[in-house]
Amino acid sequence: MVSLYREISRLFGENGIPDAQFDARCIIEQVAGKPLECVQALNADQETVANDMARRRIKGEPLQYILGEWEFFGMRLFVGEGVLIPRPDTERLVEIVLDWCRGFENPRIIDLCTGSGCIALALQKMLPGSEVHALDVSPAALSFAKRNVQYHALPVTLHQADVLKAPDFGTFDVIVSNPPYLTDAEMQALQPEIRFEPASALEAGVDGLRFYAGITALWKGTLRPGGLLAFEIGEQQGAAVAGILRQNGFTGIEVLQDYAHHDRVVVGLRSDCPGNDTPIC
Ligand code: GLN
Repeated sequence: MVSLYREISRLFGENGIPDAQFDARCIIEQVAGKPLECVQALNADQETVANDMARRRIKGEPLQYILGEWEFFGMRLFVGEGVLIPRPDTERLVEIVLDWCRGFENPRIIDLCTGSGCIALALQKMLPGSEVHALDVSPAALSFAKRNVQYHALPVTLHQADVLKAPDFGTFDVIVSNPPYLTDAEMQALQPEIRFEPASALEAGVDGLRFYAGITALWKGTLRPGGLLAFEIGEQQGAAVAGILRQNGFTGIEVLQDYAHHDRVVVGLRSDCPGNDTPIC
């Protein structure tokens, strides 16, 4: 094991980086291109690169941006400044949508506020017959999504559009979204590391509900009757988001939990009566 690993781990520890050894390991492994245990020595260029990466980490930049990639649902995804880092919580949203799609030959799916494209790509990979679209307003996010779509060579169609403007992409069996959902108060109290991520991927007004209300009202008409709407939510937002779906005539509404037992996903089905968006029909 190279001494630079020990040196960087120590520096990270002294500077209060929470997972000092893990982060140091990731940096050395990326620079060397092999597992830490197999790294005998680094050359001078590699040491310079590793030291630069370590300096950025000490300044608080997220490890994922420094590495330029992160894993989501077993897939390598490129990330960097301007795109939200895929979170493990979001894998739960993907699993729930996959469960619902079981037995469905070729669902037509759209992922709203796709960011890196993580949800869209994971769904398309697991449902090879699906037609998957992904939408984001941010050119920076979409450039990462494009790179990820190309890297995985999966047929995900990207669209640059504002999710809060009238949609024109046809009818879907599934609408899935991890929209911005932090409240103004949560934005004020963000951990320094999260401040490196785009505020536009996080902030959602005083109550954090701006996108749930807007997306549900604007997009429900693009779901086929009986189609699924699935949102990732903040752990305090279950009742409020379920209420938004109820007001919009959805049925089968459920608040589901992540593996840390926090409310994390709200799902609902569009009423079976076309043209009738009230729950009782
Ligand atoms: N889960 C993210 C966080 O806590 C928020 C993601 C989002 O707003 N969609 O940082």
